[in-house]
Amino acid sequence: MLSEFDLIKRYFAQHTVSDPRIALGIGDDCALINPTPGMQLAISTDMLVSGRHFFPDADPVMLGHKCLAVNLSDLAAMGAMPVAFTLALSLPEANPDWLEKFSHGLFALADQHQCSLIGGDTTKGPLNICITVFGELPPGSALRRDAAQVGDDIWVSGTLGDARLALAGYWKEIKLEAAEHSQAAQRMHQPTPRIALGMALRGIANAALDISDGLIGDLGHILERSDVGASLHIDSLPAGPVLSQQPLAKRREFTLAGGDDYELCFTAPPAQRAAVIAAGLACATAVTRIGCIEQQKGLRLLDDFGQPVSLPLSSFDHFATP
Ligand code: ADP
Ligand code: MG
Repeated sequence: MLSEFDLIKRYFAQHTVSDPRIALGIGDDCALINPTPGMQLAISTDMLVSGRHFFPDADPVMLGHKCLAVNLSDLAAMGAMPVAFTLALSLPEANPDWLEKFSHGLFALADQHQCSLIGGDTTKGPLNICITVFGELPPGSALRRDAAQVGDDIWVSGTLGDARLALAGYWKEIKLEAAEHSQAAQRMHQPTPRIALGMALRGIANAALDISDGLIGDLGHILERSDVGASLHIDSLPAGPVLSQQPLAKRREFTLAGGDDYELCFTAPPAQRAAVIAAGLACATAVTRIGCIEQQKGLRLLDDFGQPVSLPLSSFDHFATP
């Protein structure tokens, strides 16, 4: 039998990376971080619950990746550089095979971003994974939700909707070929946090957030916090490669309200267009201009001809769904 401490040691504490920013990692009552002088800390927590955010039999390698990816995505959305994270894990059993795979997926992504695991908590219970990430950025440079300006362009990174399409495949809401489904499912299980792009957009973008619950709802947060409105050109939204093959109505629905995309939605003055495109190129991340921030409150959806479109869409809300 694996004890709690053996488990922590074997699967989480063994993986030590030397990083001058981490004065003390796993093993004491607290971890100690040496913040880079003059930098501000950015902190965010995201919890993934079995049966809610992922299927109970989800591939543990992908789950390890995803639970850290959604947290890193929040750092990306502020323009912060990852430093470290903690992991609070509730597990029904100490299954060595599951733990080996989970930690493998987790550390593969952590190492890619030089983000060290510095502590956490482990308990027996329903499968639940809660990560807190710590990042840093120069004071005053964070890409905040309340900073959109009237006249800003609205941009989105990467493509939207394939994660939602994969879900539609699992739910048999849409019939997909096996190859199509696995390509879309890749987007759902292995989101790419846009860390490099977020950092490159400091000083260029005004407001930003990451799209976790669907573009309409998430952009709504920027509009509300910045006290502005917007028009979106819904047929210029970049649909994922698999979703692109679907009929227009599904493309619109899943790009606008799909969720689980973890792309960045950001606003920037038109004078920064060339800089935004250069930032996207430098990070090998597509950036697409999809609308503009306006004084008139509310969100207006326009088609290719600039005509208003009315769609009965809403964003994902944990407490609004049964
Ligand atoms: P405490 O009793 O002070 O809460 P624990 O006995 O729970 O400490 O944990 C011992 C050490 O192992 C601590 O440094 C804690 O941060 C770390 N730890 C516990 N669980 C995890 C985990 N899942 N991942 C990483 N570190 C962990
Ligand atoms: Mg404890």
